[in-house]
Amino acid sequence: MKKNLSVLIFSCAFLASVAYSQQAQTHFDGKTWWGFVGVLADDKMEGRETGSTGLRKAEAYIVDQLKQDGLEPAGVNGFYQPVKFESRQIVEKDSSLSLVGNGKTQMLTLGDDAVFSTRVDLAPSVTAPLVFVGYGLTVSEMNYDDLAGLDLKGKVAVILAGSPAEIPGALASHYQSAGERWKTLAKAGAVGIITILNPTSMDIPWTRISLNRAHPSMALVGQEFDETAGQKLAVTFNPAKAEQLFAGSGHSLGEVLDIARERKQLPRFPLAVLVNAKAKVEKKTLESANVIARLPGTDPNLKNEYVVLSAHVDHLGIGEPIKGDRIYNGAMDNASGSAVLLDVAASLRKSPEKLKRSLLFVFVTGEEKGLLGSKYFTAHPTVKVDSMVADINIDMFLPIVPLKVLTILGLSESDLGDEARAVAESLGVKPQADPEPQRNAFIRSDQYNFIRHGIPGLAMQVSFEAGSPEQKIFKDWLTQRYHAPSDDLAQPIDLTAAAKYEEIIRSLMVRVSNDEQRPQWKQNSFFRRYAQPSAGGN
Ligand SMILES: [Zn+2]
Repeated sequence: MKKNLSVLIFSCAFLASVAYSQQAQTHFDGKTWWGFVGVLADDKMEGRETGSTGLRKAEAYIVDQLKQDGLEPAGVNGFYQPVKFESRQIVEKDSSLSLVGNGKTQMLTLGDDAVFSTRVDLAPSVTAPLVFVGYGLTVSEMNYDDLAGLDLKGKVAVILAGSPAEIPGALASHYQSAGERWKTLAKAGAVGIITILNPTSMDIPWTRISLNRAHPSMALVGQEFDETAGQKLAVTFNPAKAEQLFAGSGHSLGEVLDIARERKQLPRFPLAVLVNAKAKVEKKTLESANVIARLPGTDPNLKNEYVVLSAHVDHLGIGEPIKGDRIYNGAMDNASGSAVLLDVAASLRKSPEKLKRSLLFVFVTGEEKGLLGSKYFTAHPTVKVDSMVADINIDMFLPIVPLKVLTILGLSESDLGDEARAVAESLGVKPQADPEPQRNAFIRSDQYNFIRHGIPGLAMQVSFEAGSPEQKIFKDWLTQRYHAPSDDLAQPIDLTAAAKYEEIIRSLMVRVSNDEQRPQWKQNSFFRRYAQPSAGGN
């Protein structure tokens, strides 16, 4: 890239000026970004677990940087917005899970066969019949209902993670969120959920899911945040061990997985076994914080509106060792995104830009615990909720290959997607919709909470074209490093890709800040239903 530019400069005056203007647009070199990643993902930050000293240290560093960049505090206590959590840890020695069928009790091995999910407030004991409900989805917009005709009263729903191809990605993602799922199952009378992971869409191998259960889960303190009230049981099942759930039902898991591979609707039927669960959970309360900063716009009216740039700072902390390493540094997840916020703020200090609307930099906590920091922030925003015109979220954007293709989650949902597409194309990058919609990436990061409050949102990732050799690089990254201690500073990174990504983020922020119109949801977007009535006549 650099080499080509210098050739142009020497070839003729006209081309040289083109090359110059291209260079002038480059505000980033990847190195300052990597410097920020280096601090945030250092072992000293101990993996930035929500509520930990390590995360507090990382946030103190962020606040220092924001001050140096001349940003204004926009939290509750200066830059900080305190958030209260309940932490929940399963005590496995006092917990158990078994299947009862045909007069026999089959004890399950926790960690090997299945794990409890403490995101839900588990009941101390549950005994209930099981019903296999396929994907467990009810999507009224598509006239699709996996629960139709089933008796779920007092029963535990067994779900295979995933969705049929006929349901568009964003819709399928939305209805697979814990809250939406529980709404329909609770209405049908179910008391719990067993989720069998889908081998075709598992990001990480079961062994690591099993190890990760040593990290406590967390919930926001406050009834308003409990979206799974009444759910007594939540269990995640290892697909390699899930055949036993189907014993005596006249069906097999193999048969179900064959249909799931084709992404067709699955059969639904009562299972022949009961589940017997005892769960002992240790609870404690703790406090963490979001960090929020403002860069004021200059237009007398529009400066009261905000373009939000968000990223989570928290990660998984210290946990079970893998290859002797206990620190889950989270360099890409998501020191990398937080570092983009810092680097964009620093670049706007160095080479300011005329901004009509204000920019809001939001560093959230509790993302790894279920998007909790952003859930709190969007329910109790420190600026008026309808003054936030857009959220551009950055989470694990993965500059591990040259940036030629950019995946834009939410690309066709609002004209924010059109803006992002235009910016990417102007920098020679090909935009695309999510190539793997079944991974649910659109609802798996903080943009989703902004969207649920009516704010057009998107997230972008360095990506690959389906079937290209790069696809394997990403797949391998997920398998080997995602949520593992090896997501640390000793991994190959493409700094040029990071710099280009940052340029796209900065350009998009500036563009949305100066647009006459605030971004609007598309007429046919499912997410338009959440828009505030005051947000531009939706
Ligand atoms: Zn993560």
